[in-house]
Amino acid sequence: MFDLDETLVHATKERLDRKPDFRFEDYGVFIRPHLRFMLEAIAPRFDIAVWSSATKIYVESAVKQLFGDVAELKFAWSIDRCVQRVEPNSNGYVYIKDLRKVQGQGYAVEGILIVDDSPEKIVRQPRNHVLISAFTGAEDDDALLELPARLVHAAEVMKKSTVGN
Ligand SMILES: [Mg+2]
Repeated sequence: MFDLDETLVHATKERLDRKPDFRFEDYGVFIRPHLRFMLEAIAPRFDIAVWSSATKIYVESAVKQLFGDVAELKFAWSIDRCVQRVEPNSNGYVYIKDLRKVQGQGYAVEGILIVDDSPEKIVRQPRNHVLISAFTGAEDDDALLELPARLVHAAEVMKKSTVGN
């Protein structure tokens, strides 16, 4: 399962040194390099889904652009599925993705990996979290190149620890 912002895309109102890959309202959206390579590499081994803490209309628009002809998504969730909590340090809100909610889609929690640049959103199931550096538009970003191998490894580790219990 993938987060969107700063994981697969960078959406900004600022101008970068190149044209955005697509636009959403007054945001330019830049797709993280090597997205297609990464999706094609993992598609034979994993079901693919999205869970973002952005709005539903943004998620639907981004998903069309990102996955349209590359991979079929099992579902694409947005902020309305997140749990809202006050963040004590900032007094703002943090939107937590509680993976137990995905069980309703037919997946055991031990079978889910979520790739997300924000650890604070996965606090309830940190073992399922695959941390990725935040993508902020750099054209030479290569985090997605190594992600397929990282996911396969993380899945094996989780499987072993589940069998061991
Ligand atoms: Mg993010």
